[in-house]
Amino acid sequence: MNVYDSERITGLLGALNFKPTEKIKEADLILFNSCTVREKAKQKLLSDLGRLKAFKEKNKKLIIGIGGCVAQEAGDELLKRIPHLDLVFGVDQVDQLADLLGRIQETKSRLAVTAFDTDPQFSLSYVRKDSSPVSAYVTIIKGCDKFCSFCIVPFTRGREKSRSPREILQEIELRVEKGTREITLLGQNVNSYAAEEFTFPSLLKLVSKVPNLKRLRFTSPHPQDFCEGMIECYVELPNLCKHLHLPVQCGSNRVLKAMRRWYTIEHYKEHVEKLRKRVPDIALSTDMIVGFPGETNEEFEETLKLLRDVRYDFVYSFRYSPRVGTSAYEWKDDVPEEEKDERLQRLQSLQDEISLEKNQELIGKIYEVLVEKISSTGAPVSVLQGRTETHKIVHFKGAPNLIGKFVQVRLTKAMPHSFLGD
Ligand code: SF4
Repeated sequence: MNVYDSERITGLLGALNFKPTEKIKEADLILFNSCTVREKAKQKLLSDLGRLKAFKEKNKKLIIGIGGCVAQEAGDELLKRIPHLDLVFGVDQVDQLADLLGRIQETKSRLAVTAFDTDPQFSLSYVRKDSSPVSAYVTIIKGCDKFCSFCIVPFTRGREKSRSPREILQEIELRVEKGTREITLLGQNVNSYAAEEFTFPSLLKLVSKVPNLKRLRFTSPHPQDFCEGMIECYVELPNLCKHLHLPVQCGSNRVLKAMRRWYTIEHYKEHVEKLRKRVPDIALSTDMIVGFPGETNEEFEETLKLLRDVRYDFVYSFRYSPRVGTSAYEWKDDVPEEEKDERLQRLQSLQDEISLEKNQELIGKIYEVLVEKISSTGAPVSVLQGRTETHKIVHFKGAPNLIGKFVQVRLTKAMPHSFLGD
């Protein structure tokens, strides 16, 4: 979501004639798009901001601002705490940036604007550009109504609001026209999408018809809202990529209940089984949290069992991090930090073994890869990076003019998180 918002911010600043610079001392405007989903990201932001004080002293014209979730959460407290900060803007103020920057320049005042937008409709302006990335995100829904006990998102991104299908379609058509080959539909909870007569599966069907849209993805769905209609889409829509990221968070029913995740492991596994029956070659990934308050060793073992049973292709795993304002913040963070580290390491090494085994089964096969970027430059050829339809990363030698194209790559070496190929 932050990548998408940052792209919009860059587009809006371009329209105001700002040009990007690689040299911080040349900048007249420095904006941070912040994340507060874990404490570490927030601390890093505050320390980066502290270092900018010297630049502000040298360049009186310099405007420094923070947007995103830390800004949304802390509001004008940040202005009090950081005297060299000029602007704090919330997640719903991106479209007002031109006005906010103009007011700061004219009045030399400092501003904090973080009110949620109260319009029942969710509309996002798409800034037209000459080109669009090979692979682009398009937001379809914002906010979240689930209020999982560990998560700050409903407080920083507000309640769920779906964007109109017409606006989504228009943005995708414009992006595809400008060179995008792969679209990822984006939202905190994509499968609660509901706008006009559209549900999430019917939206998938609508956008999959955009001419020349070669690949369609989405992230992230919630297991509670997973439905047969989504399975049908994987079967019916040729450009819907065969990869599902379905965040489970842990393998214990007691912990899931404490997390306010209203499904059971049995229910979750049923979804996976049904899907794999209809789409046998689908790749599956998930998110896991270790060391949630009260998680016992036995409950952590249940998480490892889930990994062995489901055999995900890859897993994003994190140590539990208490967030102020969430209900879990009120509970004792009673799993010692060393224990969280050990659990995380055990989880990651088990998953690495599983991923490697699964990847090794694919050696020798040929896959269509969408080339995304140069991974390392070299003479006479560079190493390029791309992804298979199943979201696996492949590195292979090739000419940079292949970026944005689909190529056939034979997988020659498997690692837990990527492949080498020819
Ligand atoms: S569903 Fe996702 S975004 Fe919403 S509260 Fe739960 S973890 Fe956070």
